Amino acid sequence: MSTDSGEPAKPRDEGCEMRIQGLLDENLELAQFRQEQLTLRNLGSYLKSALSTPEVYAAIECFGPHIWPEATGAVYLLHANGDYLERVASWGDASLNKQSLAWQDCWALRRSQPHCIRDTGNGLLCGHIAQDSGTLPSLCMPLIAHGRMLGLLHLQRLKNVPINVAADPGLALAMAVAEDLCLALANMRLRESLREQSIRDPLTGLFNRRFVDEYLVQELARAQRMKRQISMVALDIDHFKRINDTFGHSAGDVVLKKVSTVLRAHVRGSDIASRIGGEEFLLLLAESPLRFAAQRAEDIRGAIYEMPMWYEEKNLGQITASFGAAAYPDHGSTADALFRAADEALYSAKHAGRNQVVSAPPPA
Ligand code: GH3
Ligand code: MG
Ligand code: MG
Repeated sequence: MSTDSGEPAKPRDEGCEMRIQGLLDENLELAQFRQEQLTLRNLGSYLKSALSTPEVYAAIECFGPHIWPEATGAVYLLHANGDYLERVASWGDASLNKQSLAWQDCWALRRSQPHCIRDTGNGLLCGHIAQDSGTLPSLCMPLIAHGRMLGLLHLQRLKNVPINVAADPGLALAMAVAEDLCLALANMRLRESLREQSIRDPLTGLFNRRFVDEYLVQELARAQRMKRQISMVALDIDHFKRINDTFGHSAGDVVLKKVSTVLRAHVRGSDIASRIGGEEFLLLLAESPLRFAAQRAEDIRGAIYEMPMWYEEKNLGQITASFGAAAYPDHGSTADALFRAADEALYSAKHAGRNQVVSAPPPA
């Protein structure tokens, strides 16, 4: 055999061609691996810098399609009652991922181990996988931090990608992402629980003075912008010292908790009930005029008055409280001015015989 130039054709070196192809494949794999690592590092860096759980969800939704271009994915978190998981992030074809699922419906959650279906004709399908997509390879990766189950990372190959072409969702890669996710979610929970502790009164669970101060600054600015009213009710238990002196400090604590239960029962979602000192409480009623606040205070006064108070089978007797109500903008435009007006009204209620509600006088 000869070429057009007349030179004899070199025999095909099939071994060499295979080695070259092998090197090319290796290079491609290496490039792919490098790209994956880079994306993974990037995701990790965003997850570490996230300041809230919605930011964690946004990061995984943004990176998920780059990490697994041929798969649809979702992150589920275990609900506080531990019975079911709710979808908090998803990418790809959302219709393939249920909005919520019972933990019993997932082999990975039941076994606390990854559950992978590579060969679709062969394997135990999880109950949460949609019937019509049950023929696609999938991976369920439990999210476990410090030995505690947080949720699930679920990946499933997209319908329109032929099974023999698409790559597996990738166990090692999914494990690495799951690890970063777990760390970010656990950090976020810690941060949120510390924040919660810093704004709550440990005895009653109501908001504390620190929260009220922060909240009022924001709410007053909002009320000013939107020309709305805010009203405030200060409440002080009458002769509380006597309860402590007669029945002991623990009995006093029980009274504080019972009063806080009454307050909780009388506030709407947008209102704030707080304990701002020993036996002093404060209610903030957003977008409410003074007369609404005074009426609410009257309802609470009646409920406290009628509440039986017992401690260790001893009747603590009648408990009453005095109330002072004030409102923005009539009684001041700063938190301090409003506190002062509500306090003065409360002082008048004490002075007039306790167990009553007094509203701050109209502006002169
Ligand atoms: P008044 O009707 O004038 O408000 O009288 P009072 O006895 O309620 O008010 P006073 O300020 O004299 O007493 C408040 C008491 O509350 C004194 C303090 O020991 C007690 N106290 C403060 N914090 C707590 C607490 O967390 N638990 C208990 N049990 N008592 C507390
Ligand atoms: Mg007091
Ligand atoms: Mg008191």
